[in-house]
Amino acid sequence: MVENEKITVESLKKMSDSDLILRAKKISKRFCVGDGQKFKLKNYSTQPKMIFGPDDKPLVKEALAQGIDILSKLQEILYAQDKWSLLVIFQAMDAAGKDGAIKHVLSGINPQGCHVTAFKAPSDEELDHEFLWRCAKVLPERGRIGIFNRSYYEEVLVVRLHEAILKNQKLPEKLITKKIWDQRLEDISNYESYLNRNGTKVIKIFLHVSKEEQKKRFLERIDEKEKNWKFSPGDVKERGYWDQYMKAYEEAIRKSSTKASPWYVIPADNKSYARIAVASAIITALDELDLKYPDVSPEKLAELREIKKVLLEEK
Ligand code: ATP
Ligand code: MG
Repeated sequence: MVENEKITVESLKKMSDSDLILRAKKISKRFCVGDGQKFKLKNYSTQPKMIFGPDDKPLVKEALAQGIDILSKLQEILYAQDKWSLLVIFQAMDAAGKDGAIKHVLSGINPQGCHVTAFKAPSDEELDHEFLWRCAKVLPERGRIGIFNRSYYEEVLVVRLHEAILKNQKLPEKLITKKIWDQRLEDISNYESYLNRNGTKVIKIFLHVSKEEQKKRFLERIDEKEKNWKFSPGDVKERGYWDQYMKAYEEAIRKSSTKASPWYVIPADNKSYARIAVASAIITALDELDLKYPDVSPEKLAELREIKKVLLEEK
């Protein structure tokens, strides 16, 4: 996957957990925006450079399986330690593969420690509150991973492009000024540092798909019977705003990517690669959390030894 690196199914299988974590960090670094001040979307491709082709299925399968395995090990410690939590935000144009990435990457994770929320157009109750309200209610508890399939970033994306949606938000007119998008991004950034400072690490993933690839996937959704349900005519309408969306994404990423809460701009024209890169980003985030199993006190250890003795002596 990483250029200049000879990798085979066998070499992957032989890697230790710490080597696999290092490898994940190396992969994710390529897509990590970090401090966003100079971010330009055009510097990020929708096509990954790979040392294996998309047809090298066994290698792709093994790389993803390894990523999933490491993720589940780290999640177990996160859960046992019960101090940190991780929020992973997914944003993308339609058909970029958010649902598939979430489904595959999290497939090895203990469902008790993970919660996925999909954010659609807000309900009447949600519109009666400020925009972070519905997200705050479903933040991950300590020890858990929370996944947002879309998020409060829609407030500076779809809402920015459709005046009618903003009008429908019941905001006092006086507050709707030209500065509203900058203000929202500032509030989002502050909110994320607040979360980070209180033990919830936040990372954001933009699945970067090309307009051509989206068209191909829409056509598949129309042509293949099993995919018909995924197609919604509204998606084609949003496609008409492609350039405005890219501009809005660029600005959102520039103003909200930080070292502590980075955006990852992941090439999404190849689904398998995107999933490996997503797994790598989540592994990197978990690895930064100084995770360790909780210490057991000498008293507790003595108690455990006692119980063991009783169990072994049981007839
Ligand atoms: P898929 O990729 O399968 O189409 P999806 O995430 O697009 O999944 P949908 O139910 O098709 O899910 O769409 C959800 C819609 O809700 C999106 O068009 C999104 O822009 C919209 N939405 C999300 N948050 C808001 C918001 N705060 N205000 C208005 N619309 C929103
Ligand atoms: Mg949709």
